[in-house]
Amino acid sequence: MIDIRSLEIKEICELSEALGEKAFRGKQISEWLCRGASSFGEMTNLPASFRAKLEESCRISGLEVLRRLKSKDGTQKFLYGLDDGNAIETVFMKYKYGNSICISSQAGCRMGCVFCASGKNGLSRDLTPGEMAGQIQVTQALCCGEGERISHVVVMGTGEPFDNYENVRKFVRLINQEKGLGIGHRNITISTCGIVPRIADMASDMPQVNLAISLHAPNDAIRRGIMPIANKYPVSELIDACRSYAEKTHRRVTFEYAVTKGVNDSDECIRELASLLRGMLCHVNLIPLNPIEEGALESPGRKRAEEIREMLESLGIPATVRRTLGSDIDASCGQLRLSQSSRDTI
Ligand code: SF4
Repeated sequence: MIDIRSLEIKEICELSEALGEKAFRGKQISEWLCRGASSFGEMTNLPASFRAKLEESCRISGLEVLRRLKSKDGTQKFLYGLDDGNAIETVFMKYKYGNSICISSQAGCRMGCVFCASGKNGLSRDLTPGEMAGQIQVTQALCCGEGERISHVVVMGTGEPFDNYENVRKFVRLINQEKGLGIGHRNITISTCGIVPRIADMASDMPQVNLAISLHAPNDAIRRGIMPIANKYPVSELIDACRSYAEKTHRRVTFEYAVTKGVNDSDECIRELASLLRGMLCHVNLIPLNPIEEGALESPGRKRAEEIREMLESLGIPATVRRTLGSDIDASCGQLRLSQSSRDTI
């Protein structure tokens, strides 16, 4: 069965013709998908005979709302059930500049970062381009009013996007389509733990898409203790790849740095971080750590994160402290999915 969510509009038009209908029916199908339709039966402007043919040869990958949490600040977190029983998280956020969404790229993750709940149970499978686009389509239909849309996308939820590179690449093409969701490349950010060869691929394939690196440490000794990927790609290789990316694309690289007490928050670490990044078109996003239940990592608090920001700025590195959204609902990424699976086993 063809998953129609994973097809570009021109491909849906070709499929419509192959099924004996006019090509413009493909555009109608795409409009329905963008409005969050989950079945062909809802597509009431299609002839019933065509809908029956679609049912025989195609499917719409399912995203069933298993849990929905609403924060006072407008953030909404979703746990979506997929057709095969896997569950993924998606977060909708309201900013002054528009509505943003954080989507998952895999069910689970095999990267094993110690501070992250998403990887606790390992990788289940890659998400398809349609399952990634579907998170935006369905969430937009649930969270946005008439004339409102999701304008910004971060691929920073469960999963390592560069471990599912080709599907992420097609996903970017899908959501960028002008007659589809119409999300501009510059409003899309892909966050990686640092699979180095893919950084150069991204610079060639998607040069306008923003790159974010989960760095979290200024050297290999610390990074290897919290991020197993650092055993494969040392910090020096990662930073070299980022410098090449910034030079080639003229795009600013964001470095995510989860401030962790006694691990990476000393003045010495911050000076090391500043000298590592000096001269690069970049920005550091400091994240006050949100400890996962069984994790031993501790946050030094927002005040220390602010001190680090000031220190980095004084050393010539632009930095911000990430605003904490949705802190009154189930905490950081991966926790909803993790808490659901523990609930399932009770
Ligand atoms: S931080 Fe990202 S790459 Fe690391 S385990 Fe979590 S989801 Fe995977």
